[in-house]
Amino acid sequence: MSDKNTMTPMMQQYLKTKEEYRDCILFYRLGDFYEMFFDDAITASRELEITLTGKNCGLEERAPMCGIPFHAVDGYLNKLVSKGYKVAICEQVEDPKTAKGIVKREVIRIVTPGTTLDALALDETKNNYLMSIVYTADRYGISVADITTGVYFVTEVDSAKKLNDEISRYAPSEIICNHSFYVSGIDVEDFRTRLGISVYSLDSWYFDDELCKKALMDHFHMSTLSGLGLDDFDCGVIAAGALLQYLIETQKTSISNLTKLTPYITGKFMLIDSSSRRNLELCETLREKQKRGSLLWVLDKTKTAMGARMLRSFIEQPLIDLEEIEKRQQAISELNQNAIAREEIREYLNPVYDLERLISKISYQSANPRDLIAFKSSLEMLPAIRCLLDDFQGDLLKEIQTDLDPLQDLYELVDQAIMDEPPISVRDGDMIKTGFHEEVDKLRNAKTEGKTWIAQLEAKEREATGIKNLRIKYNKVFGYYLEVTNSYKDLVPEHYMRKQTLANAERYITPELKELEDMILGAEDKLVALEYNLFCEVRDKLGAEIIRIQKTAKAIAALDVFASLSLVAERNNYVCPKMNTKGLIQIKDGRHPVVEKMIDHDMFIANDTLLDNGKNRISIITGPNMAGKSTYMRQTALIVLMAQIGSFVPASSAKIGIVDRIFTRVGASDDLASGQSTFMVEMTEVANILRNATSNSLLILDEIGRGTSTFDGLSIAWAVVEHISNPKLLGAKTLFATHYHELTELEGKLSNVNNYCIAVKEKGDDIVFLRKIVKGGADKSYGIQVAKLAGVPDSVIERAKELVQELSDADITETVSEIAQEKKSKSKVQKYDQVDLEQMTLMDTVSDEDVLNELKEIEISTLTPIEALNVLNRLQNRL
Ligand code: ADP
Repeated sequence: MSDKNTMTPMMQQYLKTKEEYRDCILFYRLGDFYEMFFDDAITASRELEITLTGKNCGLEERAPMCGIPFHAVDGYLNKLVSKGYKVAICEQVEDPKTAKGIVKREVIRIVTPGTTLDALALDETKNNYLMSIVYTADRYGISVADITTGVYFVTEVDSAKKLNDEISRYAPSEIICNHSFYVSGIDVEDFRTRLGISVYSLDSWYFDDELCKKALMDHFHMSTLSGLGLDDFDCGVIAAGALLQYLIETQKTSISNLTKLTPYITGKFMLIDSSSRRNLELCETLREKQKRGSLLWVLDKTKTAMGARMLRSFIEQPLIDLEEIEKRQQAISELNQNAIAREEIREYLNPVYDLERLISKISYQSANPRDLIAFKSSLEMLPAIRCLLDDFQGDLLKEIQTDLDPLQDLYELVDQAIMDEPPISVRDGDMIKTGFHEEVDKLRNAKTEGKTWIAQLEAKEREATGIKNLRIKYNKVFGYYLEVTNSYKDLVPEHYMRKQTLANAERYITPELKELEDMILGAEDKLVALEYNLFCEVRDKLGAEIIRIQKTAKAIAALDVFASLSLVAERNNYVCPKMNTKGLIQIKDGRHPVVEKMIDHDMFIANDTLLDNGKNRISIITGPNMAGKSTYMRQTALIVLMAQIGSFVPASSAKIGIVDRIFTRVGASDDLASGQSTFMVEMTEVANILRNATSNSLLILDEIGRGTSTFDGLSIAWAVVEHISNPKLLGAKTLFATHYHELTELEGKLSNVNNYCIAVKEKGDDIVFLRKIVKGGADKSYGIQVAKLAGVPDSVIERAKELVQELSDADITETVSEIAQEKKSKSKVQKYDQVDLEQMTLMDTVSDEDVLNELKEIEISTLTPIEALNVLNRLQNRL
C-alpha cells in the first residue's frame, strides 16, 4: 500500500478514513452495499462466513474485499459486535447524483458491544452496561452507563478485589480503560470468552484530567464539578469523563439521555463476589446459564421491561441500610393488604412499553413513528396508575406517586400529531394525523382531491365566462391550462394569460390554476418532506422532556417491582422478615425459594436456622450425600439476601440480622476451564473468603478440604473453623457442611460452634431421607446406601460392604485413636487411610526437640499459605 498515488481516488478516500479508525472494522458504503477491504475484509469474511473477493484499486494486486447489502446490515453488525469487534459505519453523506467527483463519505457512528442501540442485539430485561476503568497508583476510578436507558454512575475503589466486585455486579458488555489498567495483568481474551466482556484500552487523551472535567461540565452545563457531588471522586471523575467522551466519539452526537451522573460509595450494597453470585444462582443457573431455576425466575412477575431490569438490579445489589430495607418492606405489605388495587395496577402496567429505551431512542433521534405510538399507548395508562396509588400511604409508594408524572401533555401531543397506525419509516409520509397541521391537510387533499378541484374550477370558469366548452387540460410541457376554441375567443376575460395558440383553439393559464397545479403536482414530495419535519419537531419536543420521562419511567419500574414482589410473597406464602442490626438470624420453617418450586407441591421440608454473634456463630452440618445439606445452606443465604432486597421470605417467621457480605464456597467449582486444579480453585476461594469476610458476613462453606488427602483436608477444614469462630480473627456467621465427622468434636471445644445433621431413617439395608435438620452430629455417612440409591450395580455394592466389614474388623480406627490419644493430639481423628496411618506412626517417634529444629529450618519465604497451614498442623500434632 506504499504508492497511494497510483490508487483509485475512491481507494485513497477509503484508506484515509481507515487511518482514523484503525481499531475498527470499517463498513464503507458503496451504493447498496457496505464494503470491507484488506485485513478488514479477511476478518469479516471469516467471522461472517461471507465470500472474499477482490477489487481492482490501482495496485498491482487486487485488494481483498467483501460486502454486505445495506438492508441486511443489522444482523451482520450484531454478529461482529457480539464477537468483540468495533465497527465504524461510513456513509455517503451527499447525493451521488449531484456530487462532483467522488462522493463525500463520513463515519457516522461506531458500534461497540457497550454502545449498541439496536433492539435486536439487546435483551430488554437486562441493562447493557459500558464500564470505564481508570487505574492510578492506588485507586480505581469506575464509571458505568447504559445509553439505552440513560443510567450513569461513578464510584472509586481501592483494591482489585473491590473492582472485581463492581465488575461482577454490573456484568458490563464492554470495558474501556486506560493503558495502566490494560497492562495490569487482566486476561483480555478470558474476559471476553468467559465473562462476555470486551476490554479496550483507549488513547491517553480520553483520560486527560482537564479534558474529562471539561467534557462533564459541558455535558451538564455547569461551571464547576462540585454541583455534581463529585468532589471526592478524583479518579472517578476521569473514568466518567472518559466514558462520556467515548460515547460522544462513537455516537457522533451529544448523549442527551444521560441526564445525571450519580456518584455512589461501594459500601451501600451487600457485597457478593462473582463466584458466590454464580453459586447462589441469583439470576441464572450454574450449569445451563438460564433464568429458569434462578432466584430471579421465582421473584420476577414484573409486567414491564423496566421493572424486570430494576428487579434484576435489586437482586444484584441487596441493601445494607435497615431503614431503606424497611421502606421496601412497607411498600410490599401495603400492596399485599390491598391486593385488588395491586392487581389493577398490574393490569395497567401490562401495556406499558419500555419507556426508558423509548426515550433514549427519542433523544438519539432514532425513534420511528411506531415508537411514538408505543410511547403514547404507554402514557395512556399513567393517569389510572397514579390514581390507584391514592389508596396507599407508605413513604415509598407515595414517593412513586409523586415522581409519576402522568405526562398527559405529551400524550396529547402524540395523539394529535401521529396517526394511530403509522408506517415504520419516517420518510414515506402517512404518519401525521389530519387536523394537526393545515398545510399537511391541504397537501394531502391536493393529492387525492386534485381532480375534483380541477373539475370545480372548470365549472366555475365556464359559468363566470359563459364559455360553454371551456376545458381544463394537462400536458407535460405546460402543465394545466384552460383551452378555449376560437368560436369563444371573444369571451375570454382579460386576466387569462395566453400560453399557446393552436389552429382552432387558444390555451391560457391563470394564477389560480397555477396555484392549484403547484399544489397537485408538488403535493406528494412536499407532503413527505413536511411530514418528516413535523415528525422530527414532535420527537424533539418529547426529547426535551426527557427528565420528566426518565423520572416517571423509574417510578413505573419501581412500582412494577414492588407489585411483583408482593404478588410473589402472597402466592408463595412468604412472610415479612423482621430486620435487625444485632446479627441475629433466626428463621423458622425456612424453605429454599427455588427448590420448593421445582419439586412437587408441598413436598419441601421446611427447616429452622439459628445464627447469632454469641453461642451460635458456626453450625457444622453433617449428613449423608443427597441429604439436603447444600440446599439447606443455600436456602439460608437466599433468605438473608431476599430479606436485604426488601422482599418477603419463604419461612413461617424470620428475624434477619443485616449482613455486609455473603460468601459461598460450594462443591466442585465450574472453574475447571481456567486450567487450575479443583483443589487450587477451592483453596483460592477459601483464601479470598478468609481475607475479605468480616464479623458481619455470612459464610456458606460446603465440603472444604475435599480435594486433597483426608488428613490434609481435615486439617484445613479444622483450622478454617477455628479461625472463623474466633471473634478476634474473624467471627463471621457460618454454615459449614462437611463429610469429616471428626469436625463435630469442635462443638465442645469452641463455645460458639454447634452441630447439626440432616436426619435419615434406616430401613433395613436402605435409607430414607427425612430432610429435617436436627441438633447433633451424624454418626454414619451411609455412603454405600447412597451409592445403592444412585444405581451402582449390586455386585459393587456387595463388595463395598465386604470391604467396610474387613476394614472395621482390622480395627484401624481404634489403633489410630489410641496413638492420637496418647500423644494428646488436638484432633481426635477416627478414620484414616493407610497413608495417614503411616504418617502418624512416624510422628510417634519424634521428640519435641526435633520439632523445634524443623521449625527453625523452615524457609518461610518459599512456602505457600496452604503449605504453611499444613506444616503448622503437622508440627502441632507432633507436640
Ligand atoms: P447434599 O448437599 O446433602 O448432598 P442436596 O442439598 O444437594 O444434598 O439435596 C439433594 C436433593 O434433595 C435436592 O436436589 C433436593 O431435590 C432434595 N432436597 C433437599 N432438601 C430438601 C428439602 N428440605 N425438602 C425436600 N427436598 C429436598
